[in-house]
Amino acid sequence: MAMYFDPGEVKQALDWLSSISDGAGPGVTRLLYSQSWLKAQSELEFRFQAMGMSCRFDAVGNLFATLVGSEFPEKKIATGSHIDTVVNGGGLDGQLGIIGAYIAIKSLLEHYGCPKKSLEIISMAEEEGSRFPYAFWGSKNIFGLAKREDVENLSDAQGIRFVDAMRNCGFEFGENQAPTDIEAFIELHIEQGNFLEEENYAVGVVNSIVGQKRYNITLKGEANHAGTTLMRYRKDTVECMARIITKAIDKAKAAGDPLVLTFGKVVPKPNTVNVVPGETLFTVDCRHTDETFLQDFTACLEVDMQEIARQCRVEIEIDNWMNEKPVLMNPQIVRRIEDVCRNNGISYKLMHSGAGHDSQIFGAHVPTGMIFVPSIKGISHNPEEATRIEDICEGIKTLAHTLHELAY
Ligand SMILES: [Zn+2]
Repeated sequence: MAMYFDPGEVKQALDWLSSISDGAGPGVTRLLYSQSWLKAQSELEFRFQAMGMSCRFDAVGNLFATLVGSEFPEKKIATGSHIDTVVNGGGLDGQLGIIGAYIAIKSLLEHYGCPKKSLEIISMAEEEGSRFPYAFWGSKNIFGLAKREDVENLSDAQGIRFVDAMRNCGFEFGENQAPTDIEAFIELHIEQGNFLEEENYAVGVVNSIVGQKRYNITLKGEANHAGTTLMRYRKDTVECMARIITKAIDKAKAAGDPLVLTFGKVVPKPNTVNVVPGETLFTVDCRHTDETFLQDFTACLEVDMQEIARQCRVEIEIDNWMNEKPVLMNPQIVRRIEDVCRNNGISYKLMHSGAGHDSQIFGAHVPTGMIFVPSIKGISHNPEEATRIEDICEGIKTLAHTLHELAY
């Protein structure tokens, strides 16, 4: 039976959730444990209950809405995404996965009645790390991976402590143990890149999420007079950084897709026109879908940085503070989603995700799959974030049929 998703209804539901936002905009701002965050989670609970789902919050504010299965209620097919946004974000990142799940399950109920296995929507408390410097707070708590000491000393930009913000919303640290009843997790999300749009696909079926390594690099040379210090006597940290970046970017381009390498933050000191920069801090962000490739590439990068610093007579400190492994999506689930697309005439592309998502936390613990829809011009984390409504409906259709395959 073909399920039809009314673009008007989908748009209305997304606009409704987008309207629950901190401040006047532009875009959507819904930071963890803010008033709009609490309102969004509470109003979603009402909506899910009105559809006959039983709802509960865990200790930290993840919302679970369950449609109890008729034959295997103890087995759960879960779907959802994160309710938080970045500051002045768009109306799709995160919340599409929640609204899409809601509309998909509503349609399944109308067409097929009660599922055999339980269907569960998870509206995750937090993923972005945009209020406090801690990402994946929601999904990490679900699997018992977040610790009290990780956030106890964190404060937001206004100096409000993480623990106080959490308590103001009525939540508290608690014991979360990895759930054993989730048989599969499927997340619908925007691509946040421009690949699908460029290649004209309605849907992306994600087969892996990249691993990421991030570094802070500090170069220490000697600040000196820009007029009187001859070139051969300088210990110039910007020159050193420039050589490092040029060599590394050349190697990254030679390595080819899907390797990406970014030097996103550069802070020379004293950052003045007439002084040789005596100290420079810069960052490195490197990503690849293959763990070995990522480790080998960054190991070479570290050797190159040491060598270039030595040639420039500059001291170097290399701080590798993030090392996230790539996560494979479950091959059986990937195949099921591909079958759904093929059987329903939905144009799709098998692809990796270059961004991190809740699914990378889930994927390490339960069979997980992800469905992407195209982002217009690849824009995200921006009020201009958008996806054609026809593509959104194709994404929801893919999700609905996949949930049907797994739960009915
Ligand atoms: Zn997201």
